[in-house]
Amino acid sequence: NVRVRFAPSPTGPLHIGGVRTALFNYLFAKKHGGDFVLRIEDTDQNRYVEGAEGYIVEALNWCGIPFDEGPGKNEKFGPYRQSERKHLYKQYADQLVAEDKAYYAFDTAEQLDAHRKQHEAEGKTFIYNWHNREKGRLVNSLVLSEEATQAKLDTGEDYVVRFKSPQDETLHLKDIIRGDISIDTNTLDDKVLFKSDGMPTYHLANIVDDHLMEITHVIRGEEWLPSLALHQLLYDAFGWEAPEFAHLPLILKPTGKGKLSKRDGDKLGFPVFPLEWKDPKTEDVSKGYKEEGYFPEAVVNFLAFLGWNPGTEQEIFSLEELVQSFDLERVNKAGARFDPDKTKWFNHHYMQQQLDLDLAKAFQAKNILLEGVDVNYIALVVGLIKERATFVKDFWELSHFFFVAPANYDEKASKKALKEDTPQLMQKVIEIVTATGDFTVEHLQTKLKGWITDNNIGFGKVMMPLRLALVGALQGPDVFEIMFMIGKAETVKRVEALIK
Ligand code: GLU
Repeated sequence: NVRVRFAPSPTGPLHIGGVRTALFNYLFAKKHGGDFVLRIEDTDQNRYVEGAEGYIVEALNWCGIPFDEGPGKNEKFGPYRQSERKHLYKQYADQLVAEDKAYYAFDTAEQLDAHRKQHEAEGKTFIYNWHNREKGRLVNSLVLSEEATQAKLDTGEDYVVRFKSPQDETLHLKDIIRGDISIDTNTLDDKVLFKSDGMPTYHLANIVDDHLMEITHVIRGEEWLPSLALHQLLYDAFGWEAPEFAHLPLILKPTGKGKLSKRDGDKLGFPVFPLEWKDPKTEDVSKGYKEEGYFPEAVVNFLAFLGWNPGTEQEIFSLEELVQSFDLERVNKAGARFDPDKTKWFNHHYMQQQLDLDLAKAFQAKNILLEGVDVNYIALVVGLIKERATFVKDFWELSHFFFVAPANYDEKASKKALKEDTPQLMQKVIEIVTATGDFTVEHLQTKLKGWITDNNIGFGKVMMPLRLALVGALQGPDVFEIMFMIGKAETVKRVEALIK
């Protein structure tokens, strides 16, 4: 039974990289009929941010990728917040110490800093492992006797438990996306697993929980690849079967150079968060896809393509289709370039799929000028203009003339459209429109076009000023559609206003 987890740390809002990780986990789980678990990794209390967990849950729900198990939901492996599992981890740290696979270390921050500086001065990087352990350059249990270690513990001195990385070994690791990876253990640090404040570090808690929660596949961002060796060593140390691993490629800036950051979004004006986020400390507000008018289907579709492709030309995928087609073997290891224009392209596509009535409701809710207007009329308007819109917020600009007469006429358009004989011609238009009993698009078209051709007037000489009268500019949908929509009286009124 496939079980995957999304394990964010609640240190702020979930950025789209995190949403993509969640999505790929969800797709993989659903494809294999498995479970998608949400686990909150909040062992680092210093980095805890109020509201972040709620935000994560809301974002997943908005995207339509709900978790099967997690805080407050189907808690058969719960609790799912690591802070609530605190009591679980110490026994595992103790076990490794007892088996000489980990050890107590009492270095102070100052001592570590001094070591780091000393190494830097020698042009070397400081690695806390057997190189330094055994030369006695560090004060830790390997140079302290067992009694001395116990004495320190008894006096309540601050300690950490470090993993003892093996010496002179080559590790052979496997990653579904990257294939075989070899690591020289001499390059590994003796990472901290547990601290005297009773809290495990990410590494220990992560491994213990993946084991206890029976996770079969770990799908996470590339930034965790350097931790893979330690994680494999920890599984081996405990004698547990490790899950399979897949590290997803980085998401790159639109230029393709470097990792996408929040600053890129601010600079170029696109959101990097699914939902709006207000920083509780600074009160800074970051834009969200939802509030900017993106449809969740569009966000999911474009995120799926950040690192994955189906191997065909097909670009439009519903969530169900993604579940069918998704395959970790088709995820690239090269970074995926983020393209804000493509996101908009997807949104435009999904806009066309929405019901006009739903769009009309959203449009009306956003616009006080539409208060009291029949929503069915708005839906008809939406049907005429949505092909040119990417967001609901574009609607007003594209359709205001369906609701209110132009307040002024575009200057350039006026120059182009208004000629000496315009008043005469428009007078005639008023007559024809007034005389049209059956006020339909087809009828209006036949009448007006018939008159134009019969009298050899020239299309532009009539249609341009007419459009100007109705719209205030030389843009917009079909003139006959507009006349039909606003009705006879309003049409006449607007044409009169033009030549007054
Ligand atoms: N808590 C880690 C994070 O914030 C989880 C990494 C992992 O999936 O192992 O991304």
